[in-house]
Formats: sequence, structure tokens, C-alpha cells
Amino acid sequence: MDCIFCKIIKGEIPSNKVYEDDTVLAFHDIAPQMPVHVIVIPKQHIECAADIKEDNSAVVAHIFEVIAKIGKDLGLANGYRIINNCGEDGGQTVKHLHFHLLGGEKLGEKLVK
Ligand code: AMP
Ligand code: ZN
Repeated sequence: MDCIFCKIIKGEIPSNKVYEDDTVLAFHDIAPQMPVHVIVIPKQHIECAADIKEDNSAVVAHIFEVIAKIGKDLGLANGYRIINNCGEDGGQTVKHLHFHLLGGEKLGEKLVK
């Protein structure tokens, strides 16, 4: 399967890792859009949020525990934004479920542009 994030998980493509355990990996986005821009992914290939089901949703709960830990570790005590793009209309470019953790400066109140 030609999935760039699966290749990062396997170590075939380098990444700047922030956190890793048995089921979750987090790394700095290659094109950061904020002072802190971390991508958090399940190691299991789930294509998008629309594919989350009873049998694979536990890792999603764990991802949010990991995000809370990363937020603390990276000093984002003032808060941050978590974004998930799903599918074509959602603007998803990498078809492996991922959450953007964005912080380090105050974001506007608009959810979308
Ligand atoms: P999305 O548009 O929600 O699918 O987000 C995909 C994100 O993955 C973008 O913010 C890209 O900059 C990021 N990205 C793509 N390739 C890499 C890579 N090799 N290492 C780190 N981040 C990447
Ligand atoms: Zn994948």
C-alpha cells in the first residue's frame, strides 16, 4: 500500500518523532502551519474518520490521551486546536487517519476560513 504515514511508521520515511508507543505515533508536520504543528496517527491504517467503528475506536480514545500528554510536554498550557480532515470535501490529502495538533500562538475564533 502506498501510504506515506504507514511508511513513516515502518521507518521507511524519516520523521521528527514527538511520541511513540505500541499503537500511536506523533511527529512534527513537515510543513508546519503554526509554531507547534504535530501530526498524531494510529499505527493501524485507518483511512479516515468515516472508517472509525466499534472494533477500531479504542485507538482514537488513546490518541486523545496522547494529545493531552504532548500538549503538556510541549508547553501548550494556554491551549491548542485539534483538527481532523476527512475525505475529499474535508480537504484530507494523506489518506491515513491523523489529527493535527496546532498551538504556540492564539488562533482566531473562526473554525474555517
Ligand atoms: P491533511 O491535509 O489533513 O491530509 O494533512 C496532511 C498533513 O501531513 C499536512 O499537514 C502535511 O504537511 C503533512 N505531511 C505530509 N507528508 C509528511 C511527512 N513526510 N512528514 C510529516 N508531515 C507530512
Ligand atoms: Zn497508512
